[in-house]
Amino acid sequence: MTHYFYTPVKLIAFLLLSYLAFAANTATATQWHTISANVQFLEQSSALRFYDSNQVLIQGDKCALMFDASGDFAAVEATVTQLKSTLKTPLCYLVASHFHDDHLLGMAILQHHFPNAQLIVHQQLAAEFKTLQKTYTDKLDNYEKSIELSLQRVSEQPAAQQQQWRDKLNLATQRLLRWRQYQLQAPNIQVAEPLTLELGNYPVTINAYQAHTHADLTLSAENNGILVAADIVDWLPYPGHGNFANWLKVLSQLHHDKRIKVILPGHGGALKADDLRQPLRFLQAIQAHVAAHPQQDLLQLEQSFNPQFAKDYQIDEITQKAYPLFLQAGLKRAKQSK
Ligand SMILES: [Zn+2]
Repeated sequence: MTHYFYTPVKLIAFLLLSYLAFAANTATATQWHTISANVQFLEQSSALRFYDSNQVLIQGDKCALMFDASGDFAAVEATVTQLKSTLKTPLCYLVASHFHDDHLLGMAILQHHFPNAQLIVHQQLAAEFKTLQKTYTDKLDNYEKSIELSLQRVSEQPAAQQQQWRDKLNLATQRLLRWRQYQLQAPNIQVAEPLTLELGNYPVTINAYQAHTHADLTLSAENNGILVAADIVDWLPYPGHGNFANWLKVLSQLHHDKRIKVILPGHGGALKADDLRQPLRFLQAIQAHVAAHPQQDLLQLEQSFNPQFAKDYQIDEITQKAYPLFLQAGLKRAKQSK
């Protein structure tokens, strides 16, 4: 099972984030948007939007709930500071939408600072949790290696900058030692059937799916007017671990659900139900393309894929870079699942 944590995208994500761990983070700060009186959308900076996730904070009269955690632990610590100064109620629940490390691993930091919060995951994820706990340690091992590598290179930097580098690496080492003391704690609640939580005059419902991965959770609030659906609803979806048939069914239902006013995805800005046309079309096209050309290998499939999608996803440099990686992962997945 371990192979599935090391997709090319995750590798790029890791390299980028470990670099950013040493950079001044002002340009990459998360934006807090108020969606309603009870719902805050913590939107990832645009430059990182395919590599790290959005989070959603929901507050009732008695309890708060955090949906997902960033995979950048320093960013999670910044969120903790913000939460400690603004929350008026206990943080009762943490929801991990799925196993991808940019949604799950930062929960270790939240669990340390909010030890009474109950972690909620899909039933299937709970069954695999030991493996996921190891990915937290693996990530820290990689972080340690990147610090060591950078330390070796300090002497190659211009003399005037060496002290600054040493300071940054000292900070990184302190963080590493702190995070080594934490771990991803086992979940408290497993979801297989719809689960309604009462946050204090504010009910939310958690639903379980097998779509973007084999174990996804979504959250609905305000009579289904607000849908928090992580990577199931991303405008450019990552299909490398998807169940195409189920995913298309779910997306199509959501696309036609007139009650939904706003959709908060795992990556990128808030969407409307109508926007789901794009991921629907993209995933349908991948599935149909692979089915129509069983004789083609992955490279041929990529080259013969409808070029309209490359145009749709050409909106900026970072989407342009992510698109071929996501397409390749999707073609491979669709070919394997046949
Ligand atoms: Zn994901």
